[in-house]
Amino acid sequence: MPHDGLPAGIHEIPPRSGVAFTLEAGQVLTVIDPRGEQVADLLAFNRHDLDEVISSGRTLDYASRLFLTTGDPLYSNRSNVMLRIVEDQVGRHDFLLTPCSADTFRIIYGDTHPHRGCFGNLADALGPYGIGPDRIPIAFNVFMNVRVDGDTGALTVAPPLSRAGDYVRFRAEQDLVVGLTACSALQSNNHSFKPIHYRID
Ligand SMILES: [Zn+2]
Repeated sequence: MPHDGLPAGIHEIPPRSGVAFTLEAGQVLTVIDPRGEQVADLLAFNRHDLDEVISSGRTLDYASRLFLTTGDPLYSNRSNVMLRIVEDQVGRHDFLLTPCSADTFRIIYGDTHPHRGCFGNLADALGPYGIGPDRIPIAFNVFMNVRVDGDTGALTVAPPLSRAGDYVRFRAEQDLVVGLTACSALQSNNHSFKPIHYRID
């Protein structure tokens, strides 16, 4: 048993924080919601060419759907598959909205001293890999439950459908630098901040 008390191979992202790590092509990343109703923002960059990055626009265009699940590929800006969802216990995630940020909290919540959010956490974690904040695109927001009104296009951020222990597994189709957070936005996480767990196999 590791010293932090987690099962072997499980890493914890504390509430309102983020990490970055590398994946080899063929490795599988499991993103786990240990307590339920907690979002994790996921970013991916080509480790050998950081100008290639995960693309919401390309992925949704090719899927012709807003909601992605088992079997769906996540494409890069160059239309290569970066990750593929190989198992999904929840079936509702978001790929429309940018990582929450100090600006999000200022503009949407009216905070005068805003938290840096997933955006700041991702920028901090990805910095050592040579990835600056202006390169951060829309993340694949694991477990985020954004409802879309089909007629007006109105967006509603609802509590995640994930329950304690639910997970999503992604297979890396390239060598990647990955950023991953335990999201910091009140609305996205049903008003409480919880950790995210992950493992790499
Ligand atoms: Zn967030």
